[in-house]
Amino acid sequence: MSSKTRQFLESIEINFKKAASFVDISEGLSEQILTTNSTYAVRFGVRLRGTVHIFTGYRSVHSEHLEPVKGGIRYDEHVDQDEVEALASLMTFKCALVQVPFGGSKGGLIINPRDWTEDELEVITRRFAQELSKRNLINPSQNVPAPDVGTGEREMAWMADEFKKLHPLDLNALGCVTGKPVTKGGITGRTEATGRGVQYALQEFFRHERDVKKTKLSLGLKDKRVIVQGLGNVGYHAALFLSTEDGAKITHVIERDGTIINESGINILDLREHIVKNGGTKGFSGYVEGGIEYLESDADILIPAALEMVITKENAGNIKTPLIIEAANGPITSEADEILLNNGTIVIPDLYANAGGVTVSYFEWIKNLTHIRFGRMMRRQRETNLSALIQGIETLTGKNFPEKEKAAALTGDSEINLVRSGLEDTMREAYNDISNEWNSNPSIPDLRTAAMILAIKRIKMSYDSIGL
Ligand code: NAD
Repeated sequence: MSSKTRQFLESIEINFKKAASFVDISEGLSEQILTTNSTYAVRFGVRLRGTVHIFTGYRSVHSEHLEPVKGGIRYDEHVDQDEVEALASLMTFKCALVQVPFGGSKGGLIINPRDWTEDELEVITRRFAQELSKRNLINPSQNVPAPDVGTGEREMAWMADEFKKLHPLDLNALGCVTGKPVTKGGITGRTEATGRGVQYALQEFFRHERDVKKTKLSLGLKDKRVIVQGLGNVGYHAALFLSTEDGAKITHVIERDGTIINESGINILDLREHIVKNGGTKGFSGYVEGGIEYLESDADILIPAALEMVITKENAGNIKTPLIIEAANGPITSEADEILLNNGTIVIPDLYANAGGVTVSYFEWIKNLTHIRFGRMMRRQRETNLSALIQGIETLTGKNFPEKEKAAALTGDSEINLVRSGLEDTMREAYNDISNEWNSNPSIPDLRTAAMILAIKRIKMSYDSIGL
């Protein structure tokens, strides 16, 4: 375990304890909620390139106050037990905060996915799924993984397929993981969900005049200058939607091999295409060497969307953006948090900001268990009813219904519209709750503490109801 991941775990503990001091909770229950229930470490050999390679993987279950437990699987060279446990605990608090009825879990495999071919990754992933299945650490009713750094739809499809092979009679087998491709039991809108959730979170923040005032920014996202670190799944979707739908300007994209700067706004679609084609940002207009130092650039909003612990006591004092939204998990250490707080920087915390992924994962899991696409029963019926209503209005008034409104009224319940509506509702409601909590008591220092207070209160209620 590295000092960095140990610091990550400790930062979450500090945030938890700070928030728990505002909640009427016994020390014992507080300790129970904070403690990781179990962590399974597995080593398995896979014969590849003529020799046996040993891989180490983890699956940590932080809290089973609700089951199944939920959380992504990360493929990265730096995965270790502390990191997986820190991420699992964040999942518990995140699910409680956005009222998704799951406990928290997280998994990881120590691997650099770029070292292996697609075929090799498939063999490794299937072996890992077998190991997890032996301990019910992948199972639709107990533990449901999802994508995280270094994994995506492809890995989830392999895992679901492997689980189905091992449990051919399980009718709900496809619900053993979420984030699958739509053709393999996934749900439309899952891939974009975390980035989409970041967009909804920012939109909602900018509707709260009282909170926006604390940043000294003007209301609305239009023309806001944004720095994004990490143009992977989360960062790409957040940057794309903010720039193409809200009129924000992405002025900096910091990636692992360099930074792209364009004060008039980077074309995110073009940049992503360039990265996919060339394996990195080099050669794209506005390229400069270096990365982390550009977190300190002048802009309105900073979106760390890569990895944890990138804003530390070393660089926090130099951050110029008045608003940070943590699209990644744990990008700010607790020491850095204090410095930012003293400097008046507002932080929209990870346990809320990136909850879009688990929210839509919840929708996918429900779809898998009900075996029906959302909207399938109602869509045409609703269309017929609304058509009749529009025709009635036209007959009564003798005028044609405006085409734009007619089209909007008649395009309703497609799966993507329902998913986005459910996600937007979740993100808006959660922000309202957090903001109310924050503004209800001047001693609550920041949005992170307010969010954590709500999470602890909700988990406590769940324990209270079983008499613990
Ligand atoms: P990803 O692997 O798709 O993307 C990560 C991106 O960060 C990549 O483009 C990578 O090149 C870049 N990167 C890595 N190291 C970097 C560095 N030092 N500097 C700059 N860029 C760097 O991962 P993701 O799924 O987008 O996850 C990103 C973060 O969001 C993680 O913290 C993850 O836990 C969190 N998260 C993801 C989801 C999800 O649904 N995928 C949900 C919730 C939270």
